[in-house]
Amino acid sequence: MRKKIVAGNWKMNKTAAEAVALAAEVAALVKSDVPSNVQVIMAPPSLFISEVNKATEGIANLSVSAQNCHEKASGAYTGEISAPMLASAGVPYVILGHSERRQYFQESNAQLAAKVDAALENKLTPIFCCGESLELREGGEFLALVAQQVTESLFHLSAEAFGQVVIAYEPIWAIGTGLTASSAQAQEMHAYLRQHIAGKYGQAVADACSILYGGSCNAQNAAELFACSDVDGGLIGGASLKAGDFITIAKSF
Ligand code: PEP
Repeated sequence: MRKKIVAGNWKMNKTAAEAVALAAEVAALVKSDVPSNVQVIMAPPSLFISEVNKATEGIANLSVSAQNCHEKASGAYTGEISAPMLASAGVPYVILGHSERRQYFQESNAQLAAKVDAALENKLTPIFCCGESLELREGGEFLALVAQQVTESLFHLSAEAFGQVVIAYEPIWAIGTGLTASSAQAQEMHAYLRQHIAGKYGQAVADACSILYGGSCNAQNAAELFACSDVDGGLIGGASLKAGDFITIAKSF
Protein backbone atom coordinates (compact mmCIF):
# COMPACT_ATOMS: atom_id res chain seq x y z
CA MET A 1 0.00 0.00 0.00
CA ARG A 2 1.34 3.42 -0.94
CA LYS A 3 1.46 6.18 1.64
CA LYS A 4 -1.47 8.60 1.45
CA ILE A 5 -0.20 12.15 1.92
CA VAL A 6 -1.79 15.59 2.13
CA ALA A 7 0.81 18.36 2.28
CA GLY A 8 0.05 22.05 2.73
CA ASN A 9 2.36 24.55 1.07
CA TRP A 10 1.84 27.79 2.96
CA LYS A 11 4.19 29.64 0.56
CA MET A 12 5.03 33.20 1.74
CA ASN A 13 1.97 33.59 3.97
CA LYS A 14 1.29 34.05 7.70
CA THR A 15 2.96 36.05 10.47
CA ALA A 16 4.64 34.27 13.39
CA ALA A 17 1.50 34.37 15.54
CA GLU A 18 -0.73 33.28 12.65
CA ALA A 19 1.58 30.40 11.79
CA VAL A 20 1.56 29.09 15.36
CA ALA A 21 -2.23 29.42 15.54
CA LEU A 22 -2.78 27.60 12.23
CA ALA A 23 -0.37 24.81 13.21
CA ALA A 24 -2.19 24.34 16.53
CA GLU A 25 -5.57 24.19 14.80
CA VAL A 26 -4.31 21.70 12.22
CA ALA A 27 -2.68 19.57 14.95
CA ALA A 28 -5.90 19.39 16.98
CA LEU A 29 -7.94 18.41 13.94
CA VAL A 30 -5.41 15.81 12.76
CA LYS A 31 -5.57 14.21 16.19
CA SER A 32 -9.36 14.11 16.33
CA ASP A 33 -10.39 13.66 12.70
CA VAL A 34 -7.70 12.29 10.36
CA PRO A 35 -7.18 8.53 10.00
CA SER A 36 -3.70 7.42 11.06
CA ASN A 37 -2.91 6.07 7.57
CA VAL A 38 -2.99 9.61 6.12
CA GLN A 39 0.23 11.58 6.58
CA VAL A 40 -0.49 15.30 6.95
CA ILE A 41 2.36 17.74 6.30
CA MET A 42 2.59 21.50 6.88
CA ALA A 43 5.20 23.48 4.93
CA PRO A 44 5.40 26.92 6.58
CA PRO A 45 7.85 29.67 5.68
CA SER A 46 11.30 28.54 6.86
CA LEU A 47 11.40 31.18 9.62
CA PHE A 48 8.54 29.41 11.38
CA ILE A 49 9.47 25.76 10.82
CA SER A 50 10.78 25.14 14.35
CA GLU A 51 7.72 26.70 15.99
CA VAL A 52 5.33 24.83 13.71
CA ASN A 53 7.29 21.63 14.29
CA LYS A 54 6.48 21.83 18.00
CA ALA A 55 2.78 21.45 17.18
CA THR A 56 3.49 18.08 15.51
CA GLU A 57 5.07 16.53 18.60
CA GLY A 58 3.40 13.30 19.64
CA ILE A 59 1.24 13.14 16.48
CA ALA A 60 2.70 10.38 14.31
CA ASN A 61 0.80 11.36 11.15
CA LEU A 62 1.61 15.07 11.29
CA SER A 63 4.97 16.49 10.13
CA VAL A 64 6.57 19.67 8.89
CA SER A 65 8.30 20.31 5.60
CA ALA A 66 10.54 23.03 4.23
CA GLN A 67 9.53 24.70 0.97
CA ASN A 68 13.04 24.55 -0.51
CA CYS A 69 16.69 23.92 0.33
CA HIS A 70 20.03 24.80 -1.21
CA GLU A 71 22.06 22.09 -2.90
CA LYS A 72 25.27 22.97 -1.02
CA ALA A 73 25.76 22.02 2.63
CA SER A 74 27.07 25.43 3.73
CA GLY A 75 28.88 28.51 2.45
CA ALA A 76 28.45 32.04 1.20
CA TYR A 77 24.87 31.78 -0.08
CA THR A 78 23.12 34.67 1.60
CA GLY A 79 19.49 34.01 2.41
CA GLU A 80 19.64 30.28 1.70
CA ILE A 81 19.01 27.27 3.93
CA SER A 82 20.78 23.93 3.50
CA ALA A 83 19.60 20.35 3.87
CA PRO A 84 21.90 19.68 6.87
CA MET A 85 20.40 22.74 8.59
CA LEU A 86 16.88 21.41 8.05
CA ALA A 87 17.89 17.97 9.28
CA SER A 88 19.50 19.47 12.37
CA ALA A 89 16.23 21.28 13.13
CA GLY A 90 14.29 18.00 12.96
CA VAL A 91 12.59 18.67 9.63
CA PRO A 92 11.68 15.44 7.80
CA TYR A 93 10.42 16.71 4.39
CA VAL A 94 11.42 19.31 1.82
CA ILE A 95 9.43 20.48 -1.21
CA LEU A 96 11.74 20.75 -4.24
CA GLY A 97 11.13 22.06 -7.73
CA HIS A 98 7.89 23.90 -7.09
CA SER A 99 6.90 25.70 -10.30
CA GLU A 100 7.28 29.06 -8.52
CA ARG A 101 10.92 28.16 -7.73
CA ARG A 102 11.42 27.07 -11.33
CA GLN A 103 9.80 30.26 -12.69
CA TYR A 104 11.08 32.97 -10.33
CA PHE A 105 14.42 31.47 -9.30
CA GLN A 106 15.27 29.70 -12.56
CA GLU A 107 15.72 26.32 -10.92
CA SER A 108 16.66 23.80 -13.61
CA ASN A 109 16.17 20.04 -13.68
CA ALA A 110 19.94 19.63 -13.16
CA GLN A 111 20.01 21.94 -10.14
CA LEU A 112 17.01 20.10 -8.73
CA ALA A 113 18.86 16.80 -9.12
CA ALA A 114 21.58 18.26 -6.87
CA LYS A 115 18.98 19.47 -4.36
CA VAL A 116 17.36 16.02 -4.32
CA ASP A 117 20.79 14.50 -3.58
CA ALA A 118 21.42 16.99 -0.78
CA ALA A 119 18.03 16.20 0.75
CA LEU A 120 18.48 12.44 0.59
CA GLU A 121 22.04 12.59 1.95
CA ASN A 122 20.55 14.31 4.99
CA LYS A 123 17.65 11.87 5.32
CA LEU A 124 15.05 14.41 4.26
CA THR A 125 12.20 13.16 2.11
CA PRO A 126 11.98 15.27 -1.05
CA ILE A 127 8.52 16.14 -2.31
CA PHE A 128 9.57 16.63 -5.91
CA CYS A 129 7.25 18.84 -7.98
CA CYS A 130 6.80 18.55 -11.71
CA GLY A 131 4.20 19.87 -14.14
CA GLU A 132 3.57 21.52 -17.47
CA SER A 133 2.59 25.03 -18.53
CA LEU A 134 -0.66 25.77 -20.36
CA GLU A 135 1.23 26.17 -23.65
CA LEU A 136 2.73 22.72 -23.32
CA ARG A 137 -0.61 21.18 -22.42
CA GLU A 138 -2.25 22.81 -25.40
CA GLY A 139 0.70 21.81 -27.60
CA GLY A 140 0.06 18.18 -26.70
CA GLU A 141 3.60 17.33 -25.51
CA PHE A 142 2.88 17.55 -21.81
CA LEU A 143 3.21 13.87 -20.87
CA ALA A 144 6.73 13.61 -22.28
CA LEU A 145 7.78 16.98 -20.83
CA VAL A 146 6.73 16.06 -17.29
CA ALA A 147 8.35 12.63 -17.62
CA GLN A 148 11.53 14.42 -18.70
CA GLN A 149 11.51 16.55 -15.53
CA VAL A 150 11.33 13.34 -13.51
CA THR A 151 14.06 11.68 -15.59
CA GLU A 152 16.48 14.59 -15.38
CA SER A 153 16.07 15.28 -11.67
CA LEU A 154 15.45 11.79 -10.23
CA PHE A 155 16.59 8.98 -12.52
CA HIS A 156 20.25 9.23 -11.47
CA LEU A 157 19.13 7.81 -8.10
CA SER A 158 19.51 4.17 -7.08
CA ALA A 159 16.22 2.30 -6.73
CA GLU A 160 16.64 2.45 -2.97
CA ALA A 161 17.14 6.22 -2.97
CA PHE A 162 14.28 6.75 -5.43
CA GLY A 163 12.07 4.84 -3.01
CA GLN A 164 12.46 7.72 -0.53
CA VAL A 165 11.06 10.33 -2.92
CA VAL A 166 7.47 11.61 -3.07
CA ILE A 167 6.37 13.13 -6.40
CA ALA A 168 3.84 15.94 -6.75
CA TYR A 169 2.33 16.49 -10.19
CA GLU A 170 1.27 20.12 -10.36
CA PRO A 171 0.08 21.45 -13.72
CA ILE A 172 1.21 25.10 -13.68
CA TRP A 173 -2.05 26.24 -15.27
CA ALA A 174 -3.94 24.89 -12.26
CA ILE A 175 -1.81 26.41 -9.49
CA GLY A 176 -3.58 29.24 -7.70
CA THR A 177 -5.87 29.78 -10.67
CA GLY A 178 -9.01 28.03 -9.49
CA LEU A 179 -8.69 25.81 -12.59
CA THR A 180 -8.29 22.22 -11.43
CA ALA A 181 -7.20 19.35 -13.62
CA SER A 182 -10.14 17.03 -14.09
CA SER A 183 -9.82 13.70 -12.36
CA ALA A 184 -9.31 12.13 -15.81
CA GLN A 185 -6.46 14.55 -16.60
CA ALA A 186 -4.81 13.91 -13.23
CA GLN A 187 -5.19 10.13 -13.52
CA GLU A 188 -3.76 10.16 -17.05
CA MET A 189 -0.59 11.95 -15.93
CA HIS A 190 -0.17 9.98 -12.70
CA ALA A 191 -0.56 6.65 -14.51
CA TYR A 192 1.88 7.81 -17.19
CA LEU A 193 4.46 8.81 -14.59
CA ARG A 194 4.05 5.52 -12.74
CA GLN A 195 4.60 3.62 -15.98
CA HIS A 196 7.66 5.80 -16.70
CA ILE A 197 9.05 5.00 -13.23
CA ALA A 198 8.33 1.29 -13.77
CA GLY A 199 10.31 1.43 -17.01
CA LYS A 200 13.36 2.63 -15.09
CA TYR A 201 13.08 0.95 -11.68
CA GLY A 202 10.54 -1.87 -12.14
CA GLN A 203 6.89 -2.21 -11.22
CA ALA A 204 7.38 -2.76 -7.49
CA VAL A 205 9.24 0.54 -7.05
CA ALA A 206 6.68 2.36 -9.22
CA ASP A 207 3.79 0.87 -7.26
CA ALA A 208 5.33 2.02 -3.98
CA CYS A 209 5.86 5.65 -5.09
CA SER A 210 3.35 8.18 -3.73
CA ILE A 211 2.34 10.62 -6.46
CA LEU A 212 0.38 13.64 -5.19
CA TYR A 213 -1.77 16.00 -7.24
CA GLY A 214 -1.50 19.77 -6.79
CA GLY A 215 -3.31 22.66 -8.43
CA SER A 216 -6.44 24.29 -6.97
CA CYS A 217 -7.26 21.14 -5.02
CA ASN A 218 -9.83 22.08 -2.38
CA ALA A 219 -12.38 20.76 0.08
CA GLN A 220 -14.93 20.39 -2.73
CA ASN A 221 -12.89 18.56 -5.38
CA ALA A 222 -10.37 16.54 -3.31
CA ALA A 223 -12.53 13.42 -2.96
CA GLU A 224 -12.98 13.06 -6.71
CA LEU A 225 -9.26 13.54 -7.36
CA PHE A 226 -8.17 11.19 -4.56
CA ALA A 227 -10.54 8.51 -5.84
CA CYS A 228 -8.28 8.10 -8.90
CA SER A 229 -6.28 4.91 -8.59
CA ASP A 230 -2.89 6.59 -9.18
CA VAL A 231 -3.51 9.75 -7.11
CA ASP A 232 -2.10 9.21 -3.63
CA GLY A 233 -2.99 12.56 -2.10
CA GLY A 234 -2.41 16.23 -2.66
CA LEU A 235 -0.03 19.13 -2.41
CA ILE A 236 -2.30 21.96 -1.38
CA GLY A 237 -1.59 25.69 -1.66
CA GLY A 238 -4.39 28.18 -0.95
CA ALA A 239 -6.69 25.68 0.76
CA SER A 240 -3.98 24.74 3.28
CA LEU A 241 -4.18 28.19 4.87
CA LYS A 242 -7.50 27.38 6.56
CA ALA A 243 -7.34 24.47 8.98
CA GLY A 244 -10.93 23.36 8.40
CA ASP A 245 -10.57 23.18 4.61
CA PHE A 246 -7.16 21.52 4.85
CA ILE A 247 -8.42 18.82 7.16
CA THR A 248 -11.51 18.23 5.01
CA ILE A 249 -9.06 17.52 2.18
CA ALA A 250 -7.02 15.19 4.41
CA LYS A 251 -10.22 13.25 5.14
CA SER A 252 -11.14 12.97 1.45
CA PHE A 253 -9.69 9.50 0.72
C1 PEP B 1 0.83 24.81 -4.95
O1 PEP B 1 1.31 25.92 -5.09
O2 PEP B 1 1.55 23.84 -4.66
C2 PEP B 1 -0.60 24.68 -5.13
C3 PEP B 1 -1.08 23.50 -5.40
O3 PEP B 1 -1.35 25.83 -5.00
P1 PEP B 1 -2.95 25.97 -5.07
O4 PEP B 1 -3.51 24.79 -4.31
O5 PEP B 1 -3.25 27.25 -4.42
O6 PEP B 1 -3.30 25.89 -6.51
